[in-house]
Amino acid sequence: MTPDTSIQYLPGVGPKRAALLQSELEISTVWDLVRLYPFRYIDRSSIVRIADVHPDLAQVQVRATVQKVRLYAKNGAEIPADKLKYNLVSRLSAMVADESGEMEMVFFKGVKWMHTRLVPGSTFIFFGKPAVFGNRLNMVHPEVDAPDNGVSGVLTGVYPSTEKLKNAGITGKVMNRLMSTALAEVLPAVQETLPDYVLREKGLAPLTFALRQIHFPQDQDALAKASYRLKFEELFLLQLSLLKQKYVRSRSAVGLNMPAVGEAFNACYNALPYELTGAQKRVIREIREDMRSGHQMNRLLQGDVGSGKTMVAVLSALIAVGNGYQACIMAPTEVLSQQHYANVTKYLKPTGVHCALLTGTTTAARRREIHAGLRDGSIGILIGTHALIEDTVQFKALGLAIVDEQHRFGVEQRARLWNKGYNAIPPHVLVMTATPIPRTLAMTLYGDLDVSVIDQMPPGRKPVTTLCVGETKRHAMHNFIRDEIAKGRQAFMVYPLIFESEKMDYKNLQLGYEEIVKAFPMPRYKVAIVHGQQTPQEKSFNMDAFVAGRADILVSTTVIEVGVDVPNASVMVIESAERFGLSQLHQLRGRVGRGAERSYCILMRGNKVSKESQKRLDLLCATENGFELAEEDMKMRGPGDLEGTMQSGLPISLNIASLAKDGLILSDARAYAQHILDGDPTLSQQKNAPLQQELQRDKYQTKDYSKIS
Ligand code: ADP
Ligand code: MG
Repeated sequence: MTPDTSIQYLPGVGPKRAALLQSELEISTVWDLVRLYPFRYIDRSSIVRIADVHPDLAQVQVRATVQKVRLYAKNGAEIPADKLKYNLVSRLSAMVADESGEMEMVFFKGVKWMHTRLVPGSTFIFFGKPAVFGNRLNMVHPEVDAPDNGVSGVLTGVYPSTEKLKNAGITGKVMNRLMSTALAEVLPAVQETLPDYVLREKGLAPLTFALRQIHFPQDQDALAKASYRLKFEELFLLQLSLLKQKYVRSRSAVGLNMPAVGEAFNACYNALPYELTGAQKRVIREIREDMRSGHQMNRLLQGDVGSGKTMVAVLSALIAVGNGYQACIMAPTEVLSQQHYANVTKYLKPTGVHCALLTGTTTAARRREIHAGLRDGSIGILIGTHALIEDTVQFKALGLAIVDEQHRFGVEQRARLWNKGYNAIPPHVLVMTATPIPRTLAMTLYGDLDVSVIDQMPPGRKPVTTLCVGETKRHAMHNFIRDEIAKGRQAFMVYPLIFESEKMDYKNLQLGYEEIVKAFPMPRYKVAIVHGQQTPQEKSFNMDAFVAGRADILVSTTVIEVGVDVPNASVMVIESAERFGLSQLHQLRGRVGRGAERSYCILMRGNKVSKESQKRLDLLCATENGFELAEEDMKMRGPGDLEGTMQSGLPISLNIASLAKDGLILSDARAYAQHILDGDPTLSQQKNAPLQQELQRDKYQTKDYSKIS
């Protein structure tokens, strides 16, 4: 039997179970099975006595015998055994006891399976979060394991499983036995995936040791060594593949060469009303180096809200113009494009460079002028929404494409930008995002891009006071806004959704708007409203009124989330704040604190807020550092969710390492991968043959993520 042997031939499996293992856990070979690691271990030495279980403990494990099992219907009535129909059961309650006391185990799902399993008199190990409900100690949906998995040793692995697998008899005990058989069969044939020198230099345990110990650890120490080795291997190979792709691309993608800084750049720079921050200067240097390298730039620029990315965009665009090329800046919304246009035009005054705005609402006549100006080169910088990637838009010599708030654009849209380059050479690409991405996630999502970070705020930005209040403070909140308006300030009020389903008790925007108009009556107060269902004209009209100060309050959905700059606005009220993610709340808050005045962000919380949501809101009140928030967000929600909100996927799924927890190993693995590639960029040296071979595996044949822009 070799590692590649089909799983069905492993003794104890057979075709039926093999099909299930394939459909439930994507295991088709013995090797796949061996690479399925326990997600936790039952440590027999750490069983807690029920008398010592306390609801403050995070998670505990008790060894207890089932006393009595009761089933309850939705209305709370107990269902007698002779009337049992599982579809009527909404809750299963099992009283369990050890020699020190008793507690309750509660299940709302998988009731049938649990009912057949939790036979009174039988003993299990229950693992979960203890809580108190109605004076009684309980655990909701604990993991349930047989106390003796038939495996010796203190630590017993617990594998991912599903109800289907358990129903087919693949219990934890069986899984352990299969694993034991699989290891015995294939370990002798397993080839080390990492070269000897890597193991030596990084002090890693050999693969065979790691595989044996991860499944059947001798002790904690051996387990730690095994787990470190496997995590390092996973992250290292992933980074190696990303960095290698990046290397190949930088070698092959010819880029437009822009050696000069140019007069326009200098004219703009010298007329700046402020000194650039150190971070802005560093980033501009990095971009300039890319643009004159002869290779195509593919750079991600990350900078918190208000960190001054626009200026970096303008100066980069001017480098392109100074070398005889054109640049475009693409923004996700009409409003944002207009604002960019207004800002950029201002900055361009001293340079004489022409700039045009192209959006969905540009008139046909103006469009024709712009098309002509782009073709003859008289327009140096084009700003707009995705209208500017339409095929009719042709540049004389597009040299740089800047994409603001990258995550709002689809991959195909970005690809169309690529095709607008000069002489079929793709333009340099700079992608700007204000969504702080945790470093570990950025290294993985954008592992093959160059990343610049503006990690410094322009001077003069005032801290924003953030408060979280409940419904009882609504009047106080209105009064507070009146005071601010009396001081000449403006306020944003953001609602989560428009036309919410009636069942839910969240305020929708329309109700909110009516309420605000009542609380802030005309003619004394002026309220503008912006939402996704308006025409672009309506949106601009309302937005402009607020930007120009004709409206005191802007009621909106999250469309203002990105980029809008109204320095005079000093209050941001977020309704049903618990419904937003941390990063989004942070983005919204970034809309205030831009002027000279003190600013406030008021989080209105609903009546029913989960503990976890409250934790998010508290965190937001405690810090203004976007990266810190992003890290926390990832820890709370896991990278999968975070990445989901960014509409892009991880290059490969991770088996054992965690982006949230293994940041240090990741940084080390990435630096080491870079070090190896520096010495052998194509991994063609004999000593790196095992690495080359690993990278041939399917999972590393990923889409080219460099083309995200
Ligand atoms: P973002 O990174 O969110 O796009 P902006 O480019 O809109 O940030 O800049 C936010 C504000 O800070 C703008 O009003 C801009 O004029 C100002 N600003 C940018 N750079 C500096 C600087 N170096 N010093 C002072 N103010 C700056
Ligand atoms: Mg911006």
